[in-house]
Amino acid sequence: MTQELSLEELVRRGESQTLEFKKSLSLQREGLQALCAMINSDIAKGTVVFGIEPNGTVCGIEQGNLDTAQRSLSQTLRSRFEPQLTAQIRIEELSGKTVLILSAERYRSIPYHEYDGRAWVRQGSENLKLSLDEKQRLTGRRDRDSHPGPWQCDRCGAMVGVLHSFEITNSGMRKTYQCECGGEFWPVS
Ligand SMILES: [Zn+2]
Repeated sequence: MTQELSLEELVRRGESQTLEFKKSLSLQREGLQALCAMINSDIAKGTVVFGIEPNGTVCGIEQGNLDTAQRSLSQTLRSRFEPQLTAQIRIEELSGKTVLILSAERYRSIPYHEYDGRAWVRQGSENLKLSLDEKQRLTGRRDRDSHPGPWQCDRCGAMVGVLHSFEITNSGMRKTYQCECGGEFWPVS
């Protein structure tokens, strides 16, 4: 995570575009839907804290089976997200209670992730299911190879309307996105 706020501060600010609370690990499915929705939005990252009620009250997660819970969560993360998702799981103490923090980011080359066969997207603190049309629109906007431009360098900020550079690979001709400054060009959203 780029900006590192303390957990207390995050919880005080409440649920948002990038933060969701789930009071119990039994809400794993809903939590993962929310995570999917957050990383699919333009901010491309999200955090779910288990052990906190939606209103911000710290209730703590069920004690005793933390290892099992973490394993089950990791396994679900590996098997139910397409493309596969890299996520971090942390256990922390907050107001004397145990909470589990799950966070993830979407890499820019992935237009969207699906969880259990469905793509979700976050608007404010609501999670909405993407329609086929919306998925196609997201792909058109985020997929570098089919994007019509312009592109912007992630290092020097240079904008280009046309990519002049192509490389020939085994699978045909590909655009390359190297800027002369060493950065990479990405679609301007
Ligand atoms: Zn550059």
